[in-house]
Amino acid sequence: MELLSKSIQVLGNRLQDVEEKLAATEKLLKSSQDTYASLLGEIQDYAIITLDLQGNIVNWNKGAEHIKGYTAKEVVGKNFRIFYTPAAQADNTPEKILAAAARNGRVQHDDYRVRKDGTLFWGSVTMTALHNNEGELTGFIKITRDLTQRKLMEDQTFQYLSKLETENRELEQFTYIASHDLQEPLRSISTLVELVATEYAGKLDENADNYLRFIRQSSNRMSDLIKALLDYSRIGKVKVKEAVDCNQIILNVVDDLRTAIHESKAQVIMENLPIVQAYPIELKLLFQNLLSNAIKFRQKDVPPVIRISCVKKGHEYEFTFADNGIGIAPRYQEKIFEIFQRLHNQLQYEGTGIGLAHCKKIVTLHGGRIWLNSIPGQGSQFYFTISA
Ligand code: ADP
Repeated sequence: MELLSKSIQVLGNRLQDVEEKLAATEKLLKSSQDTYASLLGEIQDYAIITLDLQGNIVNWNKGAEHIKGYTAKEVVGKNFRIFYTPAAQADNTPEKILAAAARNGRVQHDDYRVRKDGTLFWGSVTMTALHNNEGELTGFIKITRDLTQRKLMEDQTFQYLSKLETENRELEQFTYIASHDLQEPLRSISTLVELVATEYAGKLDENADNYLRFIRQSSNRMSDLIKALLDYSRIGKVKVKEAVDCNQIILNVVDDLRTAIHESKAQVIMENLPIVQAYPIELKLLFQNLLSNAIKFRQKDVPPVIRISCVKKGHEYEFTFADNGIGIAPRYQEKIFEIFQRLHNQLQYEGTGIGLAHCKKIVTLHGGRIWLNSIPGQGSQFYFTISA
């Protein structure tokens, strides 16, 4: 009997212990919930709102007051539809968001919202469904960020880019039409000069013969420039990307340039070239321009050695065309990518000055960059990237 009463007492003490521990844990839990609630309440940059099942506002923090302009007193109990524009309300957007959150647990929605004073802000909303221990839906928590500034900047950038694109297209159209139309009168001039030169051969004095020769040279040069301009405006007109083996393109370009390679005793070394998604005709033109420049701008009496290599860096392939040619002084290293910019006259090195402008346009078309390193008298390395 005594043993039983002792056991009951021990049990009673244990029970009291457990009850005390439980009370302490509950107190801790309550205080941590309070801290959490007041933390949420104080957050300024995010509107954090809890809603009941129908979307009526239950809790309202400082951030919500800051972003939407209502105090908790004014808004608790109202339906969260009031933050939506009339068009979104008519479309039942608030109800659709609640339904989607209930279905998927969480939904993200970015759109214009209405402040208390009727002004709009760009809100990025995350709506999360809340459940009790039994897994029943009890309401929602809605977190809104005011991203108006970011949205305005994005809109401005978008407008600026579309304007730039339109102007670029117009400019290309203009270049195409102008160069196309200029060819016709130029052709007439060339034909007439040829006619005068043959019909009046030997009948004119030496001066007139010289003048005719100059006119012929100038019209040929102008024809080359106009053709180059026309080619430039055509780059990227037909846009179909495909898998292109860069090794094969170099072999084709080397074949096309075999006379120049043979005459200059050039050595072309290629290493590790990849297969890339690219516009094949444009890519060939890019390789051809870089390779032919490396041969053309060689040092006197030094056979050109051109090394073509490629490394993958992150999401890009970085190509290098390195030569041992005459090099380019630092102050010209940007200028040479502009249309018709040349550092030599026709007698020193012939050309139109559009090759590197072509290269830049082609690389840009592929979403890449082109640049160079060069030491005059030692050689140049042209680099460009293509998205991998
Ligand atoms: P072009 O070759 O018709 O002159 P480009 O636009 O291809 O026109 O080149 C512009 C200028 O850049 C050239 O006139 C030349 O002065 C310089 N250049 C281009 N490539 C090289 C190179 N590999 N080495 C030295 N100079 C070069």
